[in-house]
Amino acid sequence: MKKILLLLACLLGTSATVFAQTKVVAHRGYWDTAGSYENSIASLNKAGEVGVFGSEFDVHITADNILVVNHDPTIHKVPIQTSTYAELKDLTLGNGEKLPTLEQYLEAGTKIPNMRMVLEIKSNKRTVMEDRSVLGILNMVRKYGLEDRTDYIAFSMNVCKELVKLAPAADVYYLNGDVSPADLKELGMAGLDYHFNKLKEHPEWIKEAHDLGLKVNVWTVDDVEMMKEFIAQGVDFITTNKPVECLELVK
Ligand code: MG
Repeated sequence: MKKILLLLACLLGTSATVFAQTKVVAHRGYWDTAGSYENSIASLNKAGEVGVFGSEFDVHITADNILVVNHDPTIHKVPIQTSTYAELKDLTLGNGEKLPTLEQYLEAGTKIPNMRMVLEIKSNKRTVMEDRSVLGILNMVRKYGLEDRTDYIAFSMNVCKELVKLAPAADVYYLNGDVSPADLKELGMAGLDYHFNKLKEHPEWIKEAHDLGLKVNVWTVDDVEMMKEFIAQGVDFITTNKPVECLELVK
């Protein structure tokens, strides 16, 4: 009987390892392919088509409180956070799409049910605008029923704290690389999402985070050899501009 139990424990142990496999997050969607462009709705759809675990995108708030999806603080040299939506709405992305609103983006996300939405909230010079941005985003995610498959990431500690306060059940990851896993745990975060150089500086943070029940995401890893290193170290997620290559490695 003891032998059977031991065998069962070994088998369970093996399957647990399989489930702990690194997952792939497409950075700004899957944009490095025909017809796509970073943070476009096409990039979100294409991320869904290649079967990544999650697709990352960036959200800014305009001067008149409209949430839009774009990485840079400007589009065609027009600053997003100090312009009105009317001034921005007809500007186009590199693939011809108009600047997407968060609402359009989330609506597209509802049609890709097996993929997580990794939503980066961009910092704002005005704290009140960051707070307004967090509130607006949480309401919009709720409106589209995406609470259970949206993860939040931010460089701004203010944004992270607001998220933890207003959406205690949501998974919030801090991006800025300067806070230890123990402190992130105390702040109520789900984990860390750090640049690869930070995790190379602090390789011990991966185990520390896991011991605390936190998850580890690393960005932006496009080099195949580096992907292999982080997979071997057991990071939970790799955020990459090369999702197809990374999916091959984790298969
Ligand atoms: Mg981002």
